[in-house]
Amino acid sequence: MSFTIQNALIPVDSGYETTDVQVADNCISAIAPNLSPVGTIIDGKNKLLLPGFVNAHTHSSEMWQRGIIPPLPLELWLAELYDFTPLDPEQVYLSALGTAVETLLSGGTSVVDHLVLIPGQELETIAAAVRAYQEIGIRAFIGPLIQDESLTAGMPAGEGGIEHAAYIRSTKATLELMEAAIKEFHNPEKDVNILLAPTGIQLCSDALFEGCIDLGDRYNLCLHAHLLETCAQKQLAQEKYGCSAVEHLQEIGFLSPRTSLAHCVWLDNDDIAIMAETKSTVVHNPLSNLRLGSGIAPILKYRQAGVNVSFGCDGAASNDSQDLLEAIKIGSILHNITDLDYRHWITPRQSVEMASLGGAKGLNLAEEMGSLTVGKKADFVLYDLTSLSLLPRTEPIGLLILGRPTNAVDSVWVNGKQIVAEGKVKTIDVDDLRRQLFDRSEWSSKRQSPMLGEIESHYRQVMKLPGYS
Ligand SMILES: [Zn+2]
Repeated sequence: MSFTIQNALIPVDSGYETTDVQVADNCISAIAPNLSPVGTIIDGKNKLLLPGFVNAHTHSSEMWQRGIIPPLPLELWLAELYDFTPLDPEQVYLSALGTAVETLLSGGTSVVDHLVLIPGQELETIAAAVRAYQEIGIRAFIGPLIQDESLTAGMPAGEGGIEHAAYIRSTKATLELMEAAIKEFHNPEKDVNILLAPTGIQLCSDALFEGCIDLGDRYNLCLHAHLLETCAQKQLAQEKYGCSAVEHLQEIGFLSPRTSLAHCVWLDNDDIAIMAETKSTVVHNPLSNLRLGSGIAPILKYRQAGVNVSFGCDGAASNDSQDLLEAIKIGSILHNITDLDYRHWITPRQSVEMASLGGAKGLNLAEEMGSLTVGKKADFVLYDLTSLSLLPRTEPIGLLILGRPTNAVDSVWVNGKQIVAEGKVKTIDVDDLRRQLFDRSEWSSKRQSPMLGEIESHYRQVMKLPGYS
């Protein structure tokens, strides 16, 4: 399959250039003005062509709970999330489709789904997400979310301590499950990749981390986890290891150029130096960090230390959307208030590079995707510069990143295949998806989480908040 996009605007060092882009065998084969047309001709006039972004951290099934969880910090928010988590693989399939649609229509061509598994139907859960991503055609990186400690272990014990129930599955059984998932589903040729994704230090033993490192080495897969999302986790790491979480993860060998870590809010300067030294990637989830009150990640410090940073939406229950352009905008300008030296602030072009090449690097695929370069995968997006939100004509990337683009995505290609045309997803029936999401849910305002009631007083106590009993 080959095609030629004619007269698209692309960014170059000196500004912008109107050019043609040719694709053959799923890859970019030529970029130059006035190419002799090959294959289907696509009119790129008045459109901006950019590499596809990576939604580098999300949890697709959280879509079923978006907008409903009250303002709570992560540890309490999680109790509420767990109590109402979807238990039907068909729901997982639908929310994966929904996540993919919103990612595609906000400039994304890849999604990293840290996928919550339905207990007892783990492989069925992964199969449902794989089916959704293959049908729609987005490039998928599925990291089945695993842990081997129960939820209460994720909070600092404090002086009084806290009892934990045993986790539902042994570490060994979880690692066997991951190996089965790799064998059954990891298929980069078909744009489905499995990541080893222990949830984080707060709920995982060293044995689980080490088992994931081993599987990652044996199958050449990337590693993914949450890292120091909250102040409570920083405290927990000291209780658990007597050192910082980052030092501990380096010591056990989890940090590497194949490792991406979501959030990274509570790292100090020594931790940042370790992230740079190990060439690990930070996935910035600014909206989730604001929504859960987790804090502002020191993104400008990472960039100055040479740490690769990409963007994620995080799950839709802590965002409560999957609009990548929104996450990129907030995740870029948020940091201006953290550093008076405006020369450190993130420019719109840097935001684009973080979202595309930064995302690719975090998946160890910088050689294959993440920029408009001959030989790379044809994963790119055409933005309609005649959309009202991108008018009048000023600085196209400046307005795309700093503005509030609506209906700006005209076309999306993943691996050379067109997924979106004229602003509409072509590979699935979005009206049918809307119907199913509507029919399988109901309006609700009064649900009560039993687990939240059980752990709230302990949380208030260890976090030294007033009024606990
Ligand atoms: Zn997350």
